[in-house]
Amino acid sequence: MKIRIRDLEVRKLEFDERFQAGEIEFGEDVKQASELATDGRAELIREHHGGQDTVDDIRIVGKLAVQVEAGCARCLEPVTIPVSRSFDLLYRPLKGEKRAEEVSIHEAETEIGFYSGEGMELEDALREQVLLAVPIKVLCREDCKGLCPVCGVNRNLKSCQCTVNPADMRWDALSGLKDKLQ
Ligand SMILES: [Zn+2]
Ligand SMILES: [Zn+2]
Repeated sequence: MKIRIRDLEVRKLEFDERFQAGEIEFGEDVKQASELATDGRAELIREHHGGQDTVDDIRIVGKLAVQVEAGCARCLEPVTIPVSRSFDLLYRPLKGEKRAEEVSIHEAETEIGFYSGEGMELEDALREQVLLAVPIKVLCREDCKGLCPVCGVNRNLKSCQCTVNPADMRWDALSGLKDKLQ
């Protein structure tokens, strides 16, 4: 759903949207596993910088709920992650921002983003919010035993007789999988 500055100049935009599972792309590691429901409003915030100098910001306030799926960092099994959050975001036009200023804004306030051109897609704001809610290291359970680095079995499901050299213990799930595939 496109949010256009020229529409916001007329009135606030109220939204109540549903996106089917898989409709929003979250990159390689995260999949949209359920419908995403969101509602809220978008409005224009006009910053006055003296005289005719104004900056049109887009403020998006609302909430969303969805289930996403990501692979366990240890055993690679898909893990369902329910995401439910509310947001209050401000997007500034990219044009005219000085590079250094931009960086410091990003560091100080993560809730400020940028748009370019005549507006932005609601989906882009939603994607960002969902990805922020997904842990960097997804685990299927706290004590996931992961894949055996020697034979690649999922040690949550099966045990194996492999002797694991202590030096191999730091191998991650991916190298275990590589062995399994060979
Ligand atoms: Zn796991
Ligand atoms: Zn094994």
